[in-house]
Amino acid sequence: MIENNVFASQALKDKLYAKIEAKTDRMIAIRRQLHEHPELSFKEKTTGAFIANFYQGKDVQVQANFGDGYGVVVTIDSGKPGKTLALRADFDGLPVQEETGLPFASQNTGVMHACGHDGHTAYMLILAESLYELKDDWAGKIKIVHQPAEETPPGGALGMIKAGVLDGVDAIIGVHGWAPVPYGTVQCTAGPVMTGRSSFKMTIHGKGGHGSAPHLANDANVAASYFVTIAQTIISRRTDPFDMCTLTFGNFDGKGSFNVIKDAVFLEGDVRFMRDEAREIIETNFKRMVKGLELMFDVKVDLFYDSDYPVLNNDTDLAATIQNSLRHSHSHIQELTNLDTITRNTASEDFAYFAQKIPGVYLFVGEMPDDGIFYPHHSPKFVINEKALPLAAKTVGVAALDFLATH
Ligand SMILES: [Zn+2]
Ligand SMILES: [Zn+2]
Repeated sequence: MIENNVFASQALKDKLYAKIEAKTDRMIAIRRQLHEHPELSFKEKTTGAFIANFYQGKDVQVQANFGDGYGVVVTIDSGKPGKTLALRADFDGLPVQEETGLPFASQNTGVMHACGHDGHTAYMLILAESLYELKDDWAGKIKIVHQPAEETPPGGALGMIKAGVLDGVDAIIGVHGWAPVPYGTVQCTAGPVMTGRSSFKMTIHGKGGHGSAPHLANDANVAASYFVTIAQTIISRRTDPFDMCTLTFGNFDGKGSFNVIKDAVFLEGDVRFMRDEAREIIETNFKRMVKGLELMFDVKVDLFYDSDYPVLNNDTDLAATIQNSLRHSHSHIQELTNLDTITRNTASEDFAYFAQKIPGVYLFVGEMPDDGIFYPHHSPKFVINEKALPLAAKTVGVAALDFLATH
């Protein structure tokens, strides 16, 4: 596979780079416009319409309202036989009140593009337009998958898959810009690259009473505290040390009064893992510990344990093809200073559903600001380095051209 890598012509790639460079100001203007008007998952009606409208007047197939939400699927047909490659970009915002102070900050109260999906959409629109303008020079089809609702389970990917978005598609590539990674770095790692996720909600019922008489009550706080610490042993003692797993209690509702023993405590948390086998190990042990807690403390636990996004597995052959493509293009994409082929990411992504069905690769493009000061994704102060957007377009563009040339 790796030996058989065929590359698209340098002349074609140079044309693509020139187009992207000429359109970079527009790309950034689109990103800022989207940034000002973020919409929540499954409610991105205006954004979906904006995306569909972008393709008006172009000789491409546009399918709007695709799937369970406002997805837009655009097929660019070269008219020549070949493979079909999908390129995916998500476009939802988050329930976050923006605090960046940017001149193009969100105008929608309580909603923000705090994960950078505005940038994903902007780079993808310009890349799609550039590839469309060059379609006489490549063979096969390119399907642009503008996916809504990545941030909120069940996510927008599943609905699009059910509606047939992957029918006839040979492979899929996606990108996340990543603020903690320096600008100039592109990460393309084979195998498991992002975690799967489970979550839980539980109410521990004890027996309320007077703070001075614990023997007449049954303290739910004590049982809950014990559980928070002992549950960590699932990760440290039950899962394989080579598996990356986390278990976090994000909510411990301990509000009450100083002299009142609580009747019940509500806990809520998050579980991540890099191997789907670990998902079951954690869930089984978690449920057993809940039973043990009931016995040990004579409490009653209502547990709701759920799983959503699977582990995101980057296809080994496709990852190798893209790595080769980027190595081969290194000297021509000056902004690409570091190709990282080993780093993984502890977050989760519903791109994983696409990669379960067909060979898929999810890349990360560093978008740390030049001053090195970054805020985590989903922070109200989250900002990106906009220079990463044309780099994302070149990276995915060249990978797409080489994929179609190889096949
Ligand atoms: Zn996010
Ligand atoms: Zn995101």
